[in-house]
Amino acid sequence: MQHRDRIYIGGAWVASSGTETIPVVDSSSEQVVATIPAGVAADVDRAVDAAQGPLEAWSATPAEERGAALARIAAGLDRRRRQISAVIAQELGMPLDQSDAVQVGMAITTFASMAPVVDLLPPDEHVGHSLVTYEPVGVVGAITPWNFPLQQIAVKVAAALAAGCTVVLKPSEVAPLNAFLLAEIVDEVGLMPGVFNLVSGTGPVVGEAIASHPGVDMVSFTGSTRAGIRVAELAAASVKKVALELGGKSPNIVLDDADLDRAVRFGVASAFSNAGQACSAQSRMLVPRSLLPAVEEIAVAAAHSYSPGDPFADETSMGPLVSSVQQQRVRSYITRGIDEGAKLLTGGPEPPEGLETGFFVRPTVFSEVTNDMAIAQEEIFGPVLAIMAYDSEEEAVALANDSVYGLSAGVWSASPERAVSIGRRIKTGHVCINGSPFDQLAPFGGCKRSGLGRENGRFGVEEFLEVKTLQL
Ligand code: NAD
Repeated sequence: MQHRDRIYIGGAWVASSGTETIPVVDSSSEQVVATIPAGVAADVDRAVDAAQGPLEAWSATPAEERGAALARIAAGLDRRRRQISAVIAQELGMPLDQSDAVQVGMAITTFASMAPVVDLLPPDEHVGHSLVTYEPVGVVGAITPWNFPLQQIAVKVAAALAAGCTVVLKPSEVAPLNAFLLAEIVDEVGLMPGVFNLVSGTGPVVGEAIASHPGVDMVSFTGSTRAGIRVAELAAASVKKVALELGGKSPNIVLDDADLDRAVRFGVASAFSNAGQACSAQSRMLVPRSLLPAVEEIAVAAAHSYSPGDPFADETSMGPLVSSVQQQRVRSYITRGIDEGAKLLTGGPEPPEGLETGFFVRPTVFSEVTNDMAIAQEEIFGPVLAIMAYDSEEEAVALANDSVYGLSAGVWSASPERAVSIGRRIKTGHVCINGSPFDQLAPFGGCKRSGLGRENGRFGVEEFLEVKTLQL
């Protein structure tokens, strides 16, 4: 049992002003394995003060030096890679090797890719008779989720520090231990005190204190649409800049000329990635009606290739969900899909055999799903794929766009040009063509109720800059 009893403010590990703690639960054993401080608003006040102190000096630090600090953080994460992967495998439940490659690997790449800061900052330019320059927005409040806990922190913290901002981070209270390890690494790297601060706690207490704090210049939030709306409402009172990375219900359009086996297998893998707890999971697969029987057969075979189990066992390809709340929520959606008349091809609401302990859910595939069903419209955030049939390309695009969300999508075709032209018609911030691997340098983010703003690469850094005109 690990007791984290300090938060990180002003370059030092200090006690929270609160007295409560939050338990951290192992998602496989359901046992409490650690506690963290339940921070309070007074902690946020201290952290914001600490972040304001070095703002001028940090933003004036040459970009090369800021970049060198990011490279040292990337190296620090790499050195402790196995430890952090294991922590995430325990608190989140992702199988260890995947946790190493995806959770920690992507975070390392993010810090490393932001290290050439000079190349990421837009140069000054002359417009009319003015000089247009870019300045760091100031103190950034970063509020992050549990599903890709370290990577979601990295895309905010690395980009904000690259831009010359200082940060107050509130990681998810559901999978927070990785953030404490990151803070230890930041401490070892020796950043200017106050440039990075960590306050743990719940959303309604610490998250809301950050979103409403007049000393925070921008809040960058990743999480549910519900909480994102609340954050934006609170930020509005002090007219803060807001970036929101929210939920999704991403469509995957398989066109009639696609390599069906590849497309469907990739689609299942996307829907089941991180046990379906991925904002960009392609959870709606749209297929030509004539190909439905063949698609169903491939999808079932693909789903059966997953072996849920202990994240630390070599043979496991899908771990448990993160929490009991998440498990109950996903099971109830599966029951709802059955009640709404969708055809259950495989899976179901009962736990996988022999996995009654741990927050496990069966990899589940529904077919004959229609767009009015809850399982087609709502973000389930579990290993549940909805297959839907379409009769024309027009209908496929209309179905894809008939969603309140607009985060990501997939398109499959033997003709990349055809796939791109369909991709252009889908109202999402991101479209994956023919299963192309995730590009950490390209902008990622959503439209509609999936969010505001973009993360990754130079686009992510630009979010943390303010445009300034010097009229000459
Ligand atoms: P969540 O909204 O419950 O929590 C996210 C963070 O917000 C946590 O740190 C939480 O403590 C905090 N929070 C909760 N209520 C708050 C409030 N009232 N004020 C301020 N902060 C508050 O989300 P989650 O369950 O941790 O994560 C899953 C959600 O995140 C899914 O909807 C998923 O799609 C989304 N997500 C989106 C992206 C993206 O890039 N668009 C990436 C990852 C996750």
